[in-house]
Amino acid sequence: MRAVELLGARSGQAFIEVWIICCHQVTFPHQDLSMSFLRMSNCDLHNRRVLIREDLNVPIENGRITSTQRLAAALPTLQKARDAGAAVMVLAHRGRPREGVFAASESLAPVAAWLSRELAQPVPLLRDYLDGVTVQPGAVVLLENCRMNIGEKADDPALARRYAALCEIFVMDAFGTAHRAQASTHGVIQVAPTACAGPLLAAELDALGRVLQAPARPLLAIVGGSKVSTKLTLLRNLLTKVDQLIVGGGIANTFIAAMGYEVGASLYEPDLLDAARQILAQAQACGTALPIPSDVVVAPAFSAEATPTVKRLEAIKSTEMILDIGPQTAADYAKRIAAAGTVVWNGPVGVFEFDAFGKGTEVLAQAIAGAKAFSIAGGGDTLAAADKYGIAERIDYVSTGGGAFLEFLEGKTLPAVAALESRAKD
Ligand code: AMP
Repeated sequence: MRAVELLGARSGQAFIEVWIICCHQVTFPHQDLSMSFLRMSNCDLHNRRVLIREDLNVPIENGRITSTQRLAAALPTLQKARDAGAAVMVLAHRGRPREGVFAASESLAPVAAWLSRELAQPVPLLRDYLDGVTVQPGAVVLLENCRMNIGEKADDPALARRYAALCEIFVMDAFGTAHRAQASTHGVIQVAPTACAGPLLAAELDALGRVLQAPARPLLAIVGGSKVSTKLTLLRNLLTKVDQLIVGGGIANTFIAAMGYEVGASLYEPDLLDAARQILAQAQACGTALPIPSDVVVAPAFSAEATPTVKRLEAIKSTEMILDIGPQTAADYAKRIAAAGTVVWNGPVGVFEFDAFGKGTEVLAQAIAGAKAFSIAGGGDTLAAADKYGIAERIDYVSTGGGAFLEFLEGKTLPAVAALESRAKD
């Protein structure tokens, strides 16, 4: 049964506001990204001083890198620049150090060691580099955590000019930081002699552009996770573009409650019931399918050991928590995914960290992996789920940028991308 049908049947509430935004007709001019910025692949890097901003912010425990995903994603760009005969300087951040203070705990030293190994050449880590860097063509140096530089976060133009003075060509390749206007991203792009997009950033924008601008239809989005509040803008923007919107996790619980069902002790947001009703009304106005689970997996406690029970929505007790979608719902969603032309996936549909409540997310993950649709996934938990169920390789494009991925899908302008586009008009 469609959500909107259920809504009408159950809640009987008049909607305070119905947005008359027609689906699939809203365009975002700033997101028309095709070929609107200079690409590294179109620049002659030979004997040039090239400063490359990468996202190398990896988890490090006791000096050991625990996930090299971001490093592996950035490596081909560095190899390309080096092999083209550039003198390569790599600029990156790690963690949230205090500006103006060197903290060994936030140093990029383990990253320099990893790069040295993977590039099979020494990659020195330079601590003092703002007044100039000595680097030869074919060599690669890593510049220490740029968030230790005063003015980085505030996008200080003076700091941006110092970064720019280091190079002839600035390459913005850090999609994961493209949503932040900082000196090493947005600021330096404006003042570098030449500024272009690196291959990783360009691939992200191409994949996201393909999804939002000319998707193979039906376009289906899955938005799971814990809270509607963190994904309200995303839900509203996607609703104007997609043919089907599957909500999951704590987000789905808020929609279930908004439709008048008992959600017991489940995670949901009472303050957002009206917002959820508005979204359901908007979906109805647009003809967008927004299915709500017909069955769910409940438990008496939020625990890996709690006994899972499959229930229909009508049977949920006040002491129970919804921790996953049920098998009937998972099968219905998998069918929708199999029929889709494009799938965007952000967020698990249950507490997948506990095996007893991961089945729904697993069924959806397998459906995405097996679908003929062009698929794109992003966000920390989503990638963890894709890894857990062994399907990450079978997703067409896995985004490296959590926050930037979401902001792009929310319809927001990414400051670094806007700056690149603006430079392309110089
Ligand atoms: P987010 O960080 O907002 O993307 O949310 C991801 C988290 O939501 C994961 O850690 C999931 O365990 C959690 N989650 C998913 N479904 C539920 C649920 N039904 N109740 C509580 N937490 C959930």
